[in-house]
Amino acid sequence: MKVVLQNLTKKFPNRNKKVQEDVVAVNDFTFEIPDGKLIGLLGPSGCGKSTTLSLICGLQKPTSGKIFFGDDDVTELPPENRGVGMVFQNYALYPHLTVKQNILFPLENLKGKDRLTKDQMLEKAHQIAKLVQIDELMERKPSELSGGQQQRVAIARALVKMPRVLLLDEPLSNLDARLRLQTREEIRRIQRETGITTIFVTHDQEEAMSISDQIVVMKAGVVQQIGRPQDVYNSPVNLFVAKFLGTPPINVFDGRVSGGRLYIGNDCVMDVGGVSDQDVTVGIRPEGFVLCENGPLCCKLSGVEVMGRDISIVSTNTSSLNPTIRSIISAENEVAPDAEIVRFTLKPNKVFLFSKADEARISFGG
Ligand code: ADP
Ligand code: MG
Repeated sequence: MKVVLQNLTKKFPNRNKKVQEDVVAVNDFTFEIPDGKLIGLLGPSGCGKSTTLSLICGLQKPTSGKIFFGDDDVTELPPENRGVGMVFQNYALYPHLTVKQNILFPLENLKGKDRLTKDQMLEKAHQIAKLVQIDELMERKPSELSGGQQQRVAIARALVKMPRVLLLDEPLSNLDARLRLQTREEIRRIQRETGITTIFVTHDQEEAMSISDQIVVMKAGVVQQIGRPQDVYNSPVNLFVAKFLGTPPINVFDGRVSGGRLYIGNDCVMDVGGVSDQDVTVGIRPEGFVLCENGPLCCKLSGVEVMGRDISIVSTNTSSLNPTIRSIISAENEVAPDAEIVRFTLKPNKVFLFSKADEARISFGG
């Protein structure tokens, strides 16, 4: 099911009574989510992710704008008639019911022509339990399950009615690191097998990048960029997006363009044809540095971390806005342990320039 958001806006009265202005939780969000895809909605806490989901599932009404499922305008439809499945961060299972009863619950509430026989319900519940791999646990109570298992039950419960759209709001936040990794792969598998259009909300860029067909990066209610994870990483539209994606994070410097060349401090580090003379903010991805004896960018070495296949060179530079510069270099390179400085050349496609005025990306070269 394709989902279309059309100029979706949600304002709340400001909680701070002294402030007259409304909080614009979601600001003019327009996006067509293709049928059967998994979309990662990504941004820092408070940027409007949960509000967007509430609007899509109908728990909140938009201040303006429209929502379509396929060709149906669902903007005024109550949540129970939209056919959405929703999973929250806290699993919200019924503690006194068994796993089976929890999964059956949404089916038992179906009315009229949608109502199934008891046998049909049990069969559906069993199918879904198998899909999320909890069919061995059907007679247990939630308190007898691990966090990961509870979240699977919550997902099964959201899926059992075969929703048109599945909404997941930070579903992995309460799981430990290993389970998060495992469960996110599970969610990807389940989404592929069912083909249900899914929106996955997270503030964790790595999580969103790893499982999404497309990511939507939001900041303060405003969509910054939409695209395939790798495309957004390789071509961020502004400094915010560049900083939000990537581990280790992008290295940011104060720089200057003069005569078609980029300067960091006094080092003339690269040609940047086509950019007019100005002060700029420079973003360099950790993999954008190449160790080079006569390289133009000179940094003070503060450490070398071996990470197996790669090494991470930690250094400083007075023009760097990060406290330390992290550059990831193939482990075949050698850095003398007593070296005081390191020199780099830069890979031009890993270097981004941003305007000092509005932090928008400035393109250079071709
Ligand atoms: P996120 O899920 O990205 O952390 P939210 O969608 O929960 O962000 O919130 C977006 C903004 O809207 C925040 O500034 C939040 O304080 C505000 N907000 C959310 N819900 C309400 C509400 N019911 N009343 C007033 N303000 C709200
Ligand atoms: Mg939220």
